[in-house]
Amino acid sequence: MSKGLGKDIARKLGLPQPVVLRRHQRGQPLMTGPVLVQGAGSGADELAAALLSWQLDVRRHAVPREKLGAIILVLDQLARPEDLAKPVLTAAASLRDLAPNARVITVSRSAGDTVDPAAAAARQGVDGLLRSLAKELRAGATGNGILLAGGARTTSPSTLGALGFFLSGRSAFVDGQFLTVGSAGGQLPADAEKPLAGKVAVVTGAARGIGAAIARTLYRDGATLVVVDIPAAGDHLAAVANEVHGTALQLDISSPDAGQRIIDHAVERHGRLDIVIHNAGITRDKLLANMDEDRWNSVIAVNIAAQLRINEALLASERFRSSPRIVSVASTSGIAGNRGQTNYAASKAGVMGMVRATAPLIGTHGGSVNAVAPGFIETEMTAKIPFATREVARRLNSLQQGGHPGDVAEAVAFLASDAAGGISGEVLRVCGQNLVGA
Ligand code: NAD
Repeated sequence: MSKGLGKDIARKLGLPQPVVLRRHQRGQPLMTGPVLVQGAGSGADELAAALLSWQLDVRRHAVPREKLGAIILVLDQLARPEDLAKPVLTAAASLRDLAPNARVITVSRSAGDTVDPAAAAARQGVDGLLRSLAKELRAGATGNGILLAGGARTTSPSTLGALGFFLSGRSAFVDGQFLTVGSAGGQLPADAEKPLAGKVAVVTGAARGIGAAIARTLYRDGATLVVVDIPAAGDHLAAVANEVHGTALQLDISSPDAGQRIIDHAVERHGRLDIVIHNAGITRDKLLANMDEDRWNSVIAVNIAAQLRINEALLASERFRSSPRIVSVASTSGIAGNRGQTNYAASKAGVMGMVRATAPLIGTHGGSVNAVAPGFIETEMTAKIPFATREVARRLNSLQQGGHPGDVAEAVAFLASDAAGGISGEVLRVCGQNLVGA
């Protein structure tokens, strides 16, 4: 069914029509319009000063009826739930002045980082506040939060890195989400347009869909690419490799020696290995009552067992020791569950468990490991969903539309960068704030 026809029927059915999201384009500024930094204390002052050095139009007080590009609400000093009222209601007065595609970003401390019940209540309160606010925003505007944990401050490299990501068009389809900055590690790039310059990155499942988009985005950001896919996808893989001026490695990631072959190829062809993106994945959907061994086993083998085995080889290798980065592609199905996807959801929830437990292991080498969990993304995988289900499913989120493969790629590229070095063991959803389950 053509897109035009689908749109026409969707309109007749009274389904909401999506707004065009602001997406990052090379050479464009981080964002346009004034950035209002609200919140008292040195953390807010220092953060505002750091943003000024990015040539942003930073305000500490709202000017009535001036259109705002973003509101950053610094809530790093909450001791009791009552402390929320003043800063939150002050920010509320500016919400009607947000420009289309604006951003609201909270910066607060992680509730898990305190044993004081009142402080934990106040900090956890930000979670409910932000997720609800994100559902109230309109016209492509999004709301996301940064949680400070461990030794992280409002001006730590990864706090600023996450702020840059959330402010920019790179986070167009990330809405209602939190990222925890767990340390003062990480480093902002020398060249904001080429944050991955000098890095060698491997992307699995890169012959098409989200994997091909990840390869293109990492290339745009300056990385040298190794693209991996099964031999049957060889022609498409070669085309992607040519496009990103990288090399192709035909490999089934579930083969026992996949990890070593990836390391050997990267080192022999490009001299090093810095970044591995586990994107390859398959679905074999059936209700559990009708599930057979083959469907169950193949999904577990490709989606999670292969990643575990490859990571073991990576962590054991002396060639993967210079600020190594691993980013896995999970799925919101692994968070909220999805009818007909017990095998897939088990594998994708498994990815999130793996990422959490691998973080301290790769941390000993100064590295990080994270996952992105896409929601409804417009790819060949989701194009197979029957028309009516698809038209509804793609609208079941706060932005009322499906995401693009490039939206997932942007989140992956950020987590693979040095700027995200203080973020590890995290899962970032790229789902437009899916309304179902999570
Ligand atoms: P896709 O089917 O279009 O592409 C997946 C690629 O992985 C294909 O090129 C395939 O050949 C490759 N692949 C499969 N098995 C492999 C193996 N054993 N070894 C090497 N390569 C293999 O899928 P997509 O929609 O681009 O999804 C990419 C990832 O994103 C998957 O992990 C998927 O589960 C996840 N995801 C997708 C969506 C979505 O809405 N499309 C949502 C959530 C998560």
